Amino acid sequence: MSTPNASGWKPGTPVTGHNAMSGPDTATGNRALMLEEPLLFEIGHVETTGVDLPEPQGGANRLGGFDRTAPIGLPGLSEPETVRHYTRLSRQNYAIDLGLFPLGSCTMKHNPRLNEKVARMPGFADIHPLQPVDTVRGALEVINELAFWLLDLTGMHGVAMSPKAGAHGELCGILCIRAALEARGDAREVILVPESAHGTNPATAAFAGYKVEDIPATPEGRVDLEALEARLGPDVAGVMITNPNTCGLFERDMKAISDAVHAAGGFVYCDGANFNAIVGKVRPGDLGVDAMHINLHKTFSTPHGGGGPGSGPVVLSEALSPYGPLPFTARTEDGVVHLVEEENADEFEHTEAFGRMTAFHGQMGMFTRALAYMLSHGADGLKQVAEDAVLNANYILRSLEDVLDAPFGPSGPCMHEALFSDKGFAEDVSTLDLAKALIDEGYHPMTMYFPLVVHGAMLVEPTETESKAALDQFITALRSVAERAKAGDDTLKSAPHYAPRRRLDETQAARKPVLAWNDLDMA
Ligand SMILES: *Cc1c(COP(=O)(O)O)cnc(C)c1O
Repeated sequence: MSTPNASGWKPGTPVTGHNAMSGPDTATGNRALMLEEPLLFEIGHVETTGVDLPEPQGGANRLGGFDRTAPIGLPGLSEPETVRHYTRLSRQNYAIDLGLFPLGSCTMKHNPRLNEKVARMPGFADIHPLQPVDTVRGALEVINELAFWLLDLTGMHGVAMSPKAGAHGELCGILCIRAALEARGDAREVILVPESAHGTNPATAAFAGYKVEDIPATPEGRVDLEALEARLGPDVAGVMITNPNTCGLFERDMKAISDAVHAAGGFVYCDGANFNAIVGKVRPGDLGVDAMHINLHKTFSTPHGGGGPGSGPVVLSEALSPYGPLPFTARTEDGVVHLVEEENADEFEHTEAFGRMTAFHGQMGMFTRALAYMLSHGADGLKQVAEDAVLNANYILRSLEDVLDAPFGPSGPCMHEALFSDKGFAEDVSTLDLAKALIDEGYHPMTMYFPLVVHGAMLVEPTETESKAALDQFITALRSVAERAKAGDDTLKSAPHYAPRRRLDETQAARKPVLAWNDLDMA
């Protein structure tokens, strides 16, 4: 039972008398704290500028006659105008610091402020990748320590720390597989990927030059082991399997899958984006995985969304470790952590690296945040992360399965995310309409139309950092829009009604984006 707070409001009950939208039009279009904001080009003037530099004195013009003759045509803004423009825009955004962010497969958990404090320590924040190694020993210690914990949590043999996102990690893992196969003179051409896979999996395999073939799923939403075994053969380089998978289910046959793939001479890539559901509980190394990326920005709480940096270290089996990319860190017997690069790879007996993924060592700011998160949680805390993430998802699944179709609900508990379909919606109502109505309820929509194996899919991942009160309020919102979708409520088709803009033409925006302001006479 939820208890009323001081104002008498109980979590989950609608607030009445809310006047942000009702009332007369205003002259500015602003509505109290909800501010309209034109484009920079509409507010800027070429005569205005936020900087005041003296005209350059002396010194020869070295532009070789290519200097601009006409004005550049960019809008000038003063510093306060610039600050206000971006602050106003930022207030129209949704953020994990504003509310529950139910995007399935994305693990939008709270970013602990302790991580931020650690990452901002000058010894970490103010260093540069081109500094002499002797001046960044502490940073190398952090990378090495994080690598140690990633290996400990996954039961794997080696780790490439440099990939900068999950998809980048996938590419790194597949390039390791390619290098291992080439080293034994084995030109296999096919990578098998389940239909429910994240789009990055087939894209990665194709980018690395492989042919991609689907692995079918069972009616329970898991990889069909028999069908997989039937397809294995001398042309299959490997499989890419997400575990827990994108239907929110654990692949129970993972060990049997790995054994079958290995027996057929292939390698097993595991997409580890959903590691949050099993961290501290299951070690992918024990399941026969050869390579798996870990999204530090998902499982280990480093911020993401809005295009911020990610980080996708890849853990590798003993068979693949020799091919891992440079650079990486290694501790010698004297206790010193070294950066292993081309010039000292011999000394560290790492001469078969397939190459490198990045110019430098990877996302240092994400490493410090992820390590701070791990050490502050400890082994027991990380285990509880997985348990609470799964508990929260099952609470959502079971609280809503009377109004929303849960295609895999009958197969038992889900892992970290609850999957629903649009079955039972009124004829002309779609998942998109429901998602738009959820915006009116003050939530970022869940992941929609993914995985592809479920019609009108809605994938909800609450994460462990939501309280029961927050979950209850979200469930109330989702229940309400689901009931309207089933009843065929017309107002859903025009939702959102309360967002700064209504429905945008998303197809047009994607196909024909307007990227330039053509009216240069704006002054
Ligand atoms: C997020 C995700 C990826 C890709 O990770 P990025 O860091 O966004 O590149 C791959 N697979 C799955 C299942 C994911 O959820």
